[in-house]
Amino acid sequence: DVVTRFAPSPTGYLHIGGARTALFNWLYARHTGGKFLLRIEDTDRARSTEAAVGAIFEGMKWLGLDWDGEAVMQFARAGRHAEVAHELMARGNAYYCYCSPEELEEMREKARAEGRPVRYDGRWRDRPASEAPAGVKPVVRLRAPQSGQTVIQDQVQGEVTVANEQLDDFILLRADGTPTYMLSVVVDDHDMGITHVIRGDDHLNNAFRQTQLYQGMGWEVPSFAHIPLIHGPDGAKLSKRHGALGIEAYRDMGFLPEAMRNYLLRLGWGHGDEEIIPTEKAVEWFELSGVGRSPSRFDMAKLENLNGHYLREADDARLAGLILPRLAELIGQPVDEAGKALLTAGMNGLKQRAKTLVELADSAAFYVRPLPLPMTDKAAGLLTDEAKGVLARLSAVLSDAGTWEEAALEEQVRNFAETEGLKLGAIAQPLRAALTGSTMSPGIFEVLALLGKEAALRRIAAASG
Ligand code: GLU
Repeated sequence: DVVTRFAPSPTGYLHIGGARTALFNWLYARHTGGKFLLRIEDTDRARSTEAAVGAIFEGMKWLGLDWDGEAVMQFARAGRHAEVAHELMARGNAYYCYCSPEELEEMREKARAEGRPVRYDGRWRDRPASEAPAGVKPVVRLRAPQSGQTVIQDQVQGEVTVANEQLDDFILLRADGTPTYMLSVVVDDHDMGITHVIRGDDHLNNAFRQTQLYQGMGWEVPSFAHIPLIHGPDGAKLSKRHGALGIEAYRDMGFLPEAMRNYLLRLGWGHGDEEIIPTEKAVEWFELSGVGRSPSRFDMAKLENLNGHYLREADDARLAGLILPRLAELIGQPVDEAGKALLTAGMNGLKQRAKTLVELADSAAFYVRPLPLPMTDKAAGLLTDEAKGVLARLSAVLSDAGTWEEAALEEQVRNFAETEGLKLGAIAQPLRAALTGSTMSPGIFEVLALLGKEAALRRIAAASG
């Protein structure tokens, strides 16, 4: 059975690249009916923070990427990692190295002077322990194969090969007994039963050493899939300046998690020409063969368009709930139950043009604002003395209205326009200004109907007085 994992280092927020890696692992597990595990790689004690761990959990939850079982904390497993290093020694596949920092520096300088890559020269591979200098704490190094090749069958990159002479005997345990990243990752992936390692291709080089480690332990090597990194619109590796923000920043900008999932999926994975791939479809279709080989470019406009699509698809009450906090801020008071009901009723009209929840909240605020309604300059400009007179007469007509319902109201306003000898727009635009404080809003008869007679007449009175 397939077991995948997401293994972030909690040294910063869950950024967009990490979120995509998590999504691919999650999708592959859900597609195959396997398991998706979460491992927090908190071994860098200086840089790992509680806040970052929290942000990862929160980000994953917000994105809807549920993991199976408890998250594994890597640092807590350091003892097990050391145990495996010693097991490798017992098998003759690792050894103590007593090189001093000065010796290593000398090795580096020599390599540089000769213009070849810096590599540990294996000087302690076969030296007996009796030669160990007194008082020196050794590191443990892998006895890596010195000839031949290490081959990775990568599900995205294809077959990738390295000549073993290019790799050296890398460190498994530091002199203080703490495991290195390379060792921890392999031991954890093995112990967690990971069958597929799907991650950014910045880890491709590590996969060679990790493969040697698996082989040293006689463990089965998992399947690797190294995904090309995300680039910015200018083709450079994605950075903060491109919008490589934490996932919570996208939440705060007003993106829906389902839009984010669709967008992240399309950043590097494809299924024919499909752009709109709801999560159920993604689970159904996700195969590693669909991962592209070239870096994808982050495109904010595309993300916004997708978000607009998912906003239009989303449930109205849910959207009303999602914009409440921002609305409360905009209008300076909490939105009550009646306000929420009004927003829900008006949501279909509101959501047609919005690209983000922030835009949606901005456009919805007029429904729940306390009076007097603030006016945009354009709206105020429509309320000429003449228009005010028209609105006052309209108000008189509407106060006699029997049924306060969209179609009937439209008919009444049209009839009124005819009596006044005016075009509908000459009434609808000032009416819009009066009811919404803006020149842009959902259909004006819908707004008129939803506000209700009393509130609508109060707004007209305020604008025409
Ligand atoms: N902790 C590593 C990172 O955040 C990922 C390790 C892995 O996926 O093997 O880049």
